[in-house]
Amino acid sequence: MIFELPKQVEKSIHLLETAGYEAYVVGGCVRDFLLGREINDYDVAASSTPEETKNVFSGFAVIETGIKHGTVTVIIDGMPVEITTFRTEHGYTDNRRPDRVEFTKSLKNDLARRDFTINAIAYNYRVGFCDYYGGTDDLKNGIIRCVGDADKRFGEDALRILRALRFSSVLGFEFDPETRAAAIKKADLLKKVSAERVAEELKKLICGVNSETVLMWFRDIFTVIIPELSGSDVVYGHLVHTAGSAENNLVIRLAALFHDLGLLCGETENHAEKSAETADTLLRRLKFDNETRKRIVRLIKEHEREISFSDNEIKKALNLLGETDYFNLLKLKYADGMDKNEYLMLRDTAIGIIERGECYNLKTLAVNGRDILSCGVRAGHDIGKTLDELLELVIDGKLENKKEELLAYIIKGQ
Ligand code: ATP
Ligand code: MG
Repeated sequence: MIFELPKQVEKSIHLLETAGYEAYVVGGCVRDFLLGREINDYDVAASSTPEETKNVFSGFAVIETGIKHGTVTVIIDGMPVEITTFRTEHGYTDNRRPDRVEFTKSLKNDLARRDFTINAIAYNYRVGFCDYYGGTDDLKNGIIRCVGDADKRFGEDALRILRALRFSSVLGFEFDPETRAAAIKKADLLKKVSAERVAEELKKLICGVNSETVLMWFRDIFTVIIPELSGSDVVYGHLVHTAGSAENNLVIRLAALFHDLGLLCGETENHAEKSAETADTLLRRLKFDNETRKRIVRLIKEHEREISFSDNEIKKALNLLGETDYFNLLKLKYADGMDKNEYLMLRDTAIGIIERGECYNLKTLAVNGRDILSCGVRAGHDIGKTLDELLELVIDGKLENKKEELLAYIIKGQ
């Protein structure tokens, strides 16, 4: 089988080989190629030291991305190609990063330090696929398996535990029993992994095809990184199922996963509010960006909101929530058990309102603050209040959304 590489990557391998070194693409790109999935980035591994790599590419722009760890980036015909020296890793006193890396001439040793068999396959056009650890079979059978002793590998770097869950969720793969047992046994070490890395994995994991199963099977691991997920089994099952059935969108899925955190810990009163507060705290702790955090928290807070079918109630909800949050809220409520016809009605009515350009917010109202001022209303608070009043009258069909009519109403009322 031929793995057709981008010509720039092919060229980097060719130049390294011509200079007498070994070079391969490795890791994610080989895995994704063999699975027929879209490839995000190509990593090249080579037997040359970083200095030697720089010499081979002396005629190219070279960025010293991580010289100590053996990585240089070469810009070839406009494309950045990362080239990393074959290496072994030693001593993981912090359960996260090696204390020391050593360069090696052996591809096999380099592949041995990689996390899972499916990520430990190398390829070049001359040699074909190099698979020393059974990665091809595991890809065929859909298995996540550590390279080497699973206990040891998770002990070296606890982030691998989350990566394993993420690959299982995204690829729909099962766990080799030893790898599964080791992941659970070593879960406590995840406390040492930085919030940013946890968040990064969680974001990918929650959008996976298999997220519901992974969240169900590995609850004891998730409660290490998110203790707020402890509590009632029934509520947990509901949260996980809601997240798994929600549209594949980060904000909606995380809102679904956290929407009943209040109930999970036994708070039945004001549970939407309580869940939103808890989610806000945990998303801050995981260092989520403000925009994503606020969107998620907003949906959770609003998830019990009833929207009735009338056009004016839908317009008011659209105005209050904004378009994005309105549609996201419907999707969350649909995943949370809202009847399909109800969902479609609320969605399509809103789409109709927007498409017909009907007035439902201040932007679509036929008058603005300046128009109101020109009628002699004092500047300041009154303007906003007057605009809101007009908007409500228009939405409720008591006034037409026409400038003259709206201004006449104001003048009459003064
Ligand atoms: P993706 O890019 O789709 O998230 P990937 O497998 O390419 O997945 P990267 O983080 O880009 O993940 O890493 C590239 C390769 O480096 C992996 O395929 C794996 O071989 C190795 N690798 C990455 N992180 C680790 C780790 N924590 N422990 C061991 N090997 C790792
Ligand atoms: Mg990658």
